[in-house]
Formats: sequence, C-alpha cells, structure tokens
Amino acid sequence: MPDEKIVSIPWDEFVSKVCLRQEILSLFEVLRKEAESRGLFLYVAGGPVRDFLLGREIMDVDLVLVGDWEIILDRVLSKLGGRLLMRSQFLTYKVQLGGETIDLATARKEYYSQPAVLPQVARAGLEDDIWRRDFTINALIYGLTSPYREKIVDKVGGIEDIKKGIIRPLHEKSFIDDPTRILRGLRYKVRFAFNFGEEFFRALKLAEEVSSPLSLSPTRLSQELVNFVKKEPFHLLYHLISELKMFEILKKFGLKERNFEEDDLIVLARARGELGEKEFQKLFLLSLVELNEQNLARLGFGNEERSQIEKYLKKIEEGLYYRDDILKTVETLERIPLFFLYRLLLEARFREMVREYLEKWRYVKPLIGGYDLKALGVTDGKRIGEILREIRRMKLLGKLNSPSEELDFAKNLIFFRN
Ligand code: ATP
Repeated sequence: MPDEKIVSIPWDEFVSKVCLRQEILSLFEVLRKEAESRGLFLYVAGGPVRDFLLGREIMDVDLVLVGDWEIILDRVLSKLGGRLLMRSQFLTYKVQLGGETIDLATARKEYYSQPAVLPQVARAGLEDDIWRRDFTINALIYGLTSPYREKIVDKVGGIEDIKKGIIRPLHEKSFIDDPTRILRGLRYKVRFAFNFGEEFFRALKLAEEVSSPLSLSPTRLSQELVNFVKKEPFHLLYHLISELKMFEILKKFGLKERNFEEDDLIVLARARGELGEKEFQKLFLLSLVELNEQNLARLGFGNEERSQIEKYLKKIEEGLYYRDDILKTVETLERIPLFFLYRLLLEARFREMVREYLEKWRYVKPLIGGYDLKALGVTDGKRIGEILREIRRMKLLGKLNSPSEELDFAKNLIFFRN
C-alpha cells in the first residue's frame, strides 16, 4: 500500500478552478459549517480533485459526508428553504437549494454478492469510501472540515499516477466486481491521453476469466457505452472507438463489433445535429455493432424494437430491387425512423439510396396546400390528402416545378378525372 500523501490547498485556490455559480459555493459553505459544528468530516472526492491536479476546469462537485446526511439536511433545508428531491439506495441525495440542484453522497463501502451486479452499500468511514472507487486517479479527496480541512489526501498513489499519466484500478478484482470500470477506464485514458498501468490489464484478464463482462446487464452496458457520446467530447469519439477495437473490448462484453471507419464519423456528426439526444444515442450504439438479433438484445433493445428493426431491414433489402422506382423507394424510406436511416447510411449497399432520400427526396413537398384545394371546392380532408400525395409523386418524378403547375395539375385531377 502506498504511503499516505497530504497536500495543503487553500479553499480559494481550489474553487478558482470550479465552474459553479457563486450561490452554490455559498451553499457549500453553509453545509461545511454545519458538518464542522457536529464534528463530521465533509469532503470532495474523485473527479474534481483529479481535475484540479490536472489543471482542468471543474464542472461538477459532489460532496461526501462521513455520517448521516439526514441529521444535517433537516437543519440546512429548513434554514435555507430547500427541499429534498431524491434519496437513492446508494445513500446519495439530490437536494434543491436556492434554485440549484446539488448531489450529496455518503461515505460508504460496497459489497458485491456476484460479479457485475449492482453492489449493496453501507455507511462507512473515509478509508472504505476511498478503496471502493475505480481508479487511483479517482480516489483522491479534498477535505472541507477537520481533520483534513483544505487538504488533498492521497492514500492510493493517485497523485503520482496523475503525474505519470497512468490509469490503475485499486485492486485486481476491480473489474470482476464492476466491469463498467473497463469502459470508464478507457474513457479516462482517451480523455487525458493517459496509459493503462499493467494492473489494468491484469484486472481485465481476471474479469475475462470469470466472464464478468458477459454478466453485465444490457441496460448497464448500453448506459456505459452511451457515456462515450454523453460525457466525452465528440472529437475524441473515433479515438475511443479505436481503443475499443484495439483491446477487443466489445467482444469481451458479448458484442460482435462492426468495422467503424473514420468516415462514419461524418454520418454521426450530421445525425447529431438533427436527431434528439436519445435517438442519437441509439444510433451511436448501433453504429458500433453489426445489426443482428444477438447484438440488439445485448444492447438492451426490447422485443418490440428488435422486431421493428428487423422489419425495416427487410423493407430496405426489398427496396434494393426497385431502387429505380423513386416513388416506391421514398414511400418505403419515409416509414423508417430517422435514427435508423442514419444507421443504414453506414452500410455500403444502402448508402446511395438512403443518402439521396436524406439529402433530396425527403424535402420534396407540394408548394400548394390544403387551403388552395379548398379554394377549388374540395372539402373532404381525405381527398385533399390524396391529391397532395399525388402532387408529391409528380414532383419526385420532376414533373411539376412551380406552384402554378401544381395548381393546374390539381385542377385537372379535381375537375376532369372524377
Ligand atoms: P467525470 O464525470 O469527469 O467522468 P467523475 O470522477 O466525476 O469524472 P463520476 O462518474 O461522476 O465521475 O463518478 C464520481 C466518482 O465516483 C469517481 O471519481 C469515482 O471515484 C467514483 N465512481 C464512479 N463510478 C464508479 C464505479 N463504477 N466504480 C467505482 N467508483 C466509481
């Protein structure tokens, strides 16, 4: 075990790197005084301390208490008029104070009854709370009250690892307990341009030997993969995916990966600008793997969504046989959700067809509307829909090029064909 290292850092210096509103920092001060007056140890742990030492901006600060938050919270909340929003099974709390939401954690230890399951937790002291963490670089704490007020405490050799740029788990069974740490470690490696220590590979091998990554639930696996796009900057995405490939990580989690190419990033970047967050996350997950039943199930796509996806695939396969029939192709493609069309864009055989649809055909719409048709005496809504669809078909064939041509065509349909 490494020697304990203690480094004094004045609070003002620490908070100079914190990007939080002054109001939140004042709230921290209230919480600090409350904990101090009761002789309870309050501290900041993990990411903020690591980022401070790396000279990076600190975007988020979670406070950890050795003791029972509920004793302090009652008083602080009634004093400041705040409210408890949530308390979790992991002894964490979300509170709303002065219009801000703050996360509070309890110093705890964790028990894993089986590999890869969520742990049971119990309140504990500082030592346990440090050793339950994932990597040495994430196991540093900064004290707000005595006995370590305004001090960074390093019991795990984290300061040295930050200096050397090494990602090292805290013990060799770490990834057996929680295989999500493998993916977390990979994110930190890429984000900070660090290296894995040999302990990382040893822990990986031990986890593989007992198939722990295969036991991770689909929900947790996909949540952790989604963090690649949720928590990391987009410009690092290709690098992250290349590392997944290099260490054959997806295979260890039971996924058959597809060959993600650098050009695929262009598709993802475009999709990111157009899709909602959840849809983009689904596309990202699907961009990592081949589209088969087993992969979809492993990534947590439910029965219904899986059979939908199978249907879309069948439809587009069929579409290849009538690809010269624009009308039919457009009608097929417009029934497929956008996130999946972007995924199809990553398959060479569908690319041209889907690209034309996404870039051109989907924007082809009649320039005249229901109002114009009503003015011509059509009152039945269904009939209006039919005429507008017919106009769209003609436009896709390049036969109608102005509103007046569309109107003439509509008149022809209304007055001469009925
Ligand atoms: P960032 O948000 O910048 O990725 P962070 O360190 O704040 O980094 P969080 O996911 O918010 O990351 O986790 C906070 C801290 O909780 C981590 O620094 C780590 O000490 C601990 N932690 C989080 N997830 C795990 C895990 N799966 N196993 C062990 N410790 C974890």
